[in-house]
Amino acid sequence: MSEPLKDTVTVVGAGLVGSLLSLYLARRGHTVELLERRADMRRETVDAGRSINLAISTRGLHALRQLGLEDEALKHAIPMRGRMIHPPQGALVYQPYGKDDSQHINSLSRAWLNAFLMTAAEATGKVNIRFKQRVTQLDLGPGALTVHDDATGQVRQETGRVVFGTDGSASAVRQALEKLPGYTGTQEQLGHGYKELTIPPGPGGTFQMEKHALHIWPRGTYMLIALPNEDGSFTCTLFLPWQGPVSFASLDTPERLSAFFDAQFPDAKALIPDLMEAFFSRPTGSMVTVKGAPWRAGGLTLLLGDAAHAIVPFFGQGMNCGFEDCVVLDTLLERGGSWENVFTEFERLRKTNADAIADMAVENFVEMRDSTGDPRFQLRKAVEKVLLNAFPGEFVSRYSLVSFSRVPYRLAYQVGALTDGIVSELTEGLARAEDVDLKRAAELIQSRLAPFLKEH
Ligand code: FAD
Repeated sequence: MSEPLKDTVTVVGAGLVGSLLSLYLARRGHTVELLERRADMRRETVDAGRSINLAISTRGLHALRQLGLEDEALKHAIPMRGRMIHPPQGALVYQPYGKDDSQHINSLSRAWLNAFLMTAAEATGKVNIRFKQRVTQLDLGPGALTVHDDATGQVRQETGRVVFGTDGSASAVRQALEKLPGYTGTQEQLGHGYKELTIPPGPGGTFQMEKHALHIWPRGTYMLIALPNEDGSFTCTLFLPWQGPVSFASLDTPERLSAFFDAQFPDAKALIPDLMEAFFSRPTGSMVTVKGAPWRAGGLTLLLGDAAHAIVPFFGQGMNCGFEDCVVLDTLLERGGSWENVFTEFERLRKTNADAIADMAVENFVEMRDSTGDPRFQLRKAVEKVLLNAFPGEFVSRYSLVSFSRVPYRLAYQVGALTDGIVSELTEGLARAEDVDLKRAAELIQSRLAPFLKEH
């Protein structure tokens, strides 16, 4: 097969995925024009986007490693080795994420990572990032991109290039594909919104809660979470329904908000000095699951990242999945062939996996906000850990496959259903995880899991 030409290509959106994609394309010899609607966040204060920090795990780190960027990123990351559950009353409960501390996820500043990737892309000498360039339309007939230059007020058309759409969940590039006959898709807004709040560092930049954990206050239909930052602070995210008895609509006065935090999150309230001001002045974010196809039009355009498959954030995988998109595309480009063939194969490989992580992310919302506070769930998690250690390589959990491996998401979903069944059966009637029947566990793993893993 012949290799695609070393074309000049256009990437729309210099967020996390667009910046990383540009690096991969530059490494393959392409010249990249990267169009970004916002100002340059390295020079002007701009809203960095959808969250202040995020969790990067094996898939995302692998994508950085291929470009020699992992070590620098990890210098700025804080390992989170488990969940720290804050019940309404009583002691904190710690649930490790993996079989041991080596399996952890990492909290990283979104703004730092985005700026780091943009700078690395520019340093290749092959990526030209143009800021305040807002794409409003892609006309698939002539392949014309309409770009508003918000710095000068001018509007121009660009033609004749392959266009990669990495312009996020409300993608303008995707809108062109949505007009194609045969396009099918759904966009489901979550009935919850989110608000970010800050726990500042303690004296001398100390962490006021356990540093190496993702903190969760599960409360049934809503929850608060907190991730550590390099400077000793934590970014908290409050997820609440938009409407209803406890919701963003109902918490409409400082008195109501204060009483709510006193009742539900007293320990967090004591650590957030500007709660009232922050809650009522900061924007409330919305979350959407975007599922649709096709992601491509001939060899002209391809969607990656949230533009192709926005998911809710409860598995911490949106960016990780988008970074994995870049690795898969790069592997296909390595094999060679026309853009059209590469794009077709990319969608064939990725769509089913993107759909799987989208569904798992929605399921994980229920797990995080509700089940993590349930003692039976905590026992199941403890049993899972015993099995992970007792049967290394034979027993695998869904969480570990998603977060600590690069096994396709679809397979992780299927294996997860089998392992959940095994854990539930072994936990029935059990009081302590240490007492789990390992002989029965071995039988169940051999009879249910091993044949499936062998087949795949
Ligand atoms: P975006 O980050 O949305 O970037 C799109 C870029 O395109 C932006 O720079 C935007 O300005 C630009 N743009 C948009 N429209 C245009 C246009 N018309 N013309 C030009 N430029 C345009 N993922 C994880 O892996 N781990 C986590 O822990 C995690 N936590 C999250 C927490 C929250 C609260 C949320 C909301 C999301 C979280 N995610 C997480 C998901 C993650 O944020 C996204 O998956 C990721 O940002 C997708 O990157 P992207 O580059 O595809 O899109």
